[in-house]
Amino acid sequence: MKAAVDIVVVGGGAAGVAAAVCAARSGRSTLLLDRRPAAGGTGGFSGLTTLCGLYNDAGESLNDGFVREFTQALGQNAPVHMGRVWVLPYRPEKFCEVATRLLAATRNLQTRWNAPLTDAIVENSRIVSLNGFTVGAVIDCTGSAEVARLTGVKCLATDETTQSPAVVFPLCNVSRDLDSPAAVAQVLLPLARAGFPPLNLQASLEANTLTAKFTGRAEQVPEVIAFLQRNVSGFENCRTPLTEFPSVSRAGRMIIGQYLLTGSDVLAGRKFPDGIAQCAWPVEQWGPDGVARFKYLPAGTHYEIPARSLRAAGVANLFMAGKTISAEVDAIASARVMGCCLATGAAAGVLAARHLESSPTR
Ligand SMILES: Cc1cc2nc3c(=O)[nH]c(=O)nc-3n(C[C@H](O)[C@H](O)[C@H](O)COP(=O)(O)OP(=O)(O)OC[C@H]3O[C@@H](n4cnc5c(N)ncnc54)[C@H](O)[C@@H]3O)c2cc1C
Repeated sequence: MKAAVDIVVVGGGAAGVAAAVCAARSGRSTLLLDRRPAAGGTGGFSGLTTLCGLYNDAGESLNDGFVREFTQALGQNAPVHMGRVWVLPYRPEKFCEVATRLLAATRNLQTRWNAPLTDAIVENSRIVSLNGFTVGAVIDCTGSAEVARLTGVKCLATDETTQSPAVVFPLCNVSRDLDSPAAVAQVLLPLARAGFPPLNLQASLEANTLTAKFTGRAEQVPEVIAFLQRNVSGFENCRTPLTEFPSVSRAGRMIIGQYLLTGSDVLAGRKFPDGIAQCAWPVEQWGPDGVARFKYLPAGTHYEIPARSLRAAGVANLFMAGKTISAEVDAIASARVMGCCLATGAAAGVLAARHLESSPTR
């Protein structure tokens, strides 16, 4: 006989960890599986060091519950004002550690690492089995809608024309303050004039260390560092501890759900009767030229993500969170940041558990 589990969460990044913990805390036996060897996803394994989408433009938290619990567990870090937005600096290794600890401390929750999604069986518009488990509900937190791909559920996709990939790496031994956009521009201008693709530099929690997001090719990173050493004061001794520079994809796939969140909803700060997560992050597109373009919400506003954007259309027991929620290309360009992924993940876990109360078929 097949093993049975109430809820399977596929993907152990920000969204999946939140979804699994909240589903299990709602009293449902839960299984989290990921093809990676450990929890963390993009937030833990890509060198990123700032959590975006947690705050409104006054620097106040937009979501409580699991989002607050997770971010507080990252340490006593204070939000930082970056241009018109607030972000929370964090250490990626701490992100993985907190995710692992919260998963391990949750009753009713089992995890499977190095476990790619292999099969899903749909009968009568319900997923009845996934990776050999008999299931009650499934939450797709893969960022690329892998459950939907297997089950034939319709999706939208972002690609490199709106979400270009980047190489993320720490740049250590920098002895120059970059405490304003103008100070950063002074560093980046010579690089641009020399013909390098765009580089984005952010402060990190480590002393004299910046987080660099580079939209050129991986093999150009050593040239960029050598250029900075030769031409920019304060960067003479800069270096990176990395020897390989994997490119990380911003693009993803969004599952069409019972409501499709639009770019207009985001920019108008729209609220919904079934709103389950709040976000004020701008629409952030990364063009093929590697340049970021921001469209901001009106001052003092945020938008909501409705529960219907977390429920797939056509498959009654499929839910989604993080980068796979039902959203247009412009809307996901805001809602894909990790603060929103934590919030939609937590909500999807609760929604899937409630779904089983009203529709207990397994
Ligand atoms: C270059 C770059 C810079 C960014 N900068 C920031 C930033 O500064 N701040 C911010 O908040 N956000 C940033 N983001 C966005 C953010 O990191 C992601 O959108 C977010 O982490 C997505 O979270 P998630 O949980 O939806 O997916 P992920 O964290 O990507 O997790 C998906 C998980 O699913 C697993 N998976 C995928 N397919 C399968 C499968 N077939 N079987 C089993 N498991 C599978 C993966 O292994 C992965 O662990 C950035 C993204 C990129 C690429």
